[in-house]
Amino acid sequence: MKVCIDPGHNSTGKDTGAEGYGLKEQDITLILGRKVRELLIGYGVTVVMTRDGDNAPSTATVETSLSSRVALSNAARADYFISIHTNASDTHSGTGSEVFALKAGGEGEKLASVIAPKLAIAGLWANRGVKFGNLQVLRDTDAPAVLCECGFIDYASDAVKLKDDVYLQRIAKAIADGFAEYKGLSTINQPPTSEPVNKVPVTSTPPKGDNITPLNGDKGWDEYTEDGRRIIHATNYAYLTIGTDGSVWSYGPNRDAIKLA
Ligand SMILES: [Zn+2]
Repeated sequence: MKVCIDPGHNSTGKDTGAEGYGLKEQDITLILGRKVRELLIGYGVTVVMTRDGDNAPSTATVETSLSSRVALSNAARADYFISIHTNASDTHSGTGSEVFALKAGGEGEKLASVIAPKLAIAGLWANRGVKFGNLQVLRDTDAPAVLCECGFIDYASDAVKLKDDVYLQRIAKAIADGFAEYKGLSTINQPPTSEPVNKVPVTSTPPKGDNITPLNGDKGWDEYTEDGRRIIHATNYAYLTIGTDGSVWSYGPNRDAIKLA
């Protein structure tokens, strides 16, 4: 089983990615791509990368950047192609994750439909679902292909997660686990997968105190103090707080505390 992982965009040339909150899409996609690679290797998958550094084989134009990625995957005879991106919107109001396939009815759609809900749970953000797009990397690759949009880099509460290695690992794991589930693979050199972190029941409460950097100017956030702890209400369903010991906690809709890290 061979998978081509495509960290979207380049650091130089015409195909640089979106930016937001001090983040560059091309940096995030490379971090995620490398994490997905490690996890897929743990499932016994052979991985090829369209880039494992700043740039794909071509940076001249967007078209050649994309066609060089497709050519690399096709030359490697990859069985599947997984492109990794972060999203952005004109109004800077989009949030959540979505997974593109070329069209309905193919393997791409099936794989996307397994990854999409896992990606949303990993990010504790909205599941925007499976979408279809006549995108070059989906259309011209010989292998069934998906393109994962892992949160919005220009939306504050998504961006704060894309800066957080705990969330990046969760996002990468969602993609790798989704692929493994779709193909019925089990881990070969990793300990058995534990319960997803967001399903582990927690009986203790977060430590008091915080070191949260206030995020002002974004309507998606509000902050308040509760029982001596500073709480950030990040979205309709996710509350984050950080203890003085560096631990990260999230509150679900029923206000159960979940330790993320
Ligand atoms: Zn992108």
